[in-house]
Amino acid sequence: MLREETVFGPIFSRRLGTSLGINLLPEKGKFCNFDCIYCECGWNRDGRNDNKLPSAEKVRHDLSNKLQDLYADGVKVDSITFSGDGEPTLNPEFPQIIDDTLALRDRYAASAKVSVLSNATRVHIPEVFAAVSKVDNPIMKIDAPTNELVAKINNPAPGYDVQRVVEALKQFEGNFILQWCLLRSPEFDSSKPEVVLPMLDIIRTLHPREVMAYTIDRPTPAQNLSKVTPEEMDVLLKPLMDEGFKVQIKG
Ligand code: SF4
Repeated sequence: MLREETVFGPIFSRRLGTSLGINLLPEKGKFCNFDCIYCECGWNRDGRNDNKLPSAEKVRHDLSNKLQDLYADGVKVDSITFSGDGEPTLNPEFPQIIDDTLALRDRYAASAKVSVLSNATRVHIPEVFAAVSKVDNPIMKIDAPTNELVAKINNPAPGYDVQRVVEALKQFEGNFILQWCLLRSPEFDSSKPEVVLPMLDIIRTLHPREVMAYTIDRPTPAQNLSKVTPEEMDVLLKPLMDEGFKVQIKG
């Protein structure tokens, strides 16, 4: 499922209200430094025939037009989310795009929340951290507590180190949302204690203001994957809830 527009929507959802999406990746391809076995955009190798990333100027133009049209039509925008076909922070103009988006939000949709969905691989870069820390909801992914398991789930580009990501996420001082996808394959099971217990320790160390635990929902590029059910996640994450963490579970 690839998005063909830089600014897409609005989508109307009960949870987010009227939601606009921003895709900072190629209009006709996927561009990511992960290649997750569950990625709804498919494998990287199947979506790289278009490598042209939208410029800050194009994003500003498209978002401005969309917000002005919705404003003129009396449609209230509740949410603007960076969630395109890949990792948004890979766009070299990401910091400028965030500044432009916040300025346009303030002008045409002052109550809308801006969210960034990221795999957290680049928050150690000062400019990237400075940009994501400006938005209302920085939503950062960690799916596994060890580099070995990250390799099986996320297929990261060379150089990934989960400990470096944890250190980089400490900069938020808890003011971010941690996203964790739990699933099973013939090779691993996210619900096993050897995965869950160290993940809970990472979460305790980072103390995010919210944990979003979820599982696969759409067709996946890898075969033979299965869900960890919401009921199972309830049990697995109960220690965090008992400790006062805000936990959202999505099945
Ligand atoms: S980080 Fe997101 S976009 Fe990148 S491969 Fe994983 S699921 Fe797909």
